[in-house]
Amino acid sequence: MDHPSEETLKRFAAGTAPREENRAVVAHLVKGCSACARKLRDLMEPDPVPRSSYEAALDRFDQELIESLESSISPAQTLRTVLSFPLVPPEEERRRKKG
Ligand SMILES: [Zn+2]
Repeated sequence: MDHPSEETLKRFAAGTAPREENRAVVAHLVKGCSACARKLRDLMEPDPVPRSSYEAALDRFDQELIESLESSISPAQTLRTVLSFPLVPPEEERRRKKG
């Protein structure tokens, strides 16, 4: 996998990356790269997020959300969503628990 450079992640975390770079980072993170997500989280200020604030986002995590992430990029918001993005889509997970 082609990882964004640390400089890129730093710019993304600081919110100073150009739009194209933001898109690339988001696209990379939504693929589920936990290494970069962790790196990015370390680069950002610790910002405890109450569970309720991302559960709603998780529930509607789909293509539409990815597109909205890409079009209106707020690094902190994106990170919150991406870091809590389960590798298994919520629907599938629900099905698994049932079965
Ligand atoms: Zn990566």
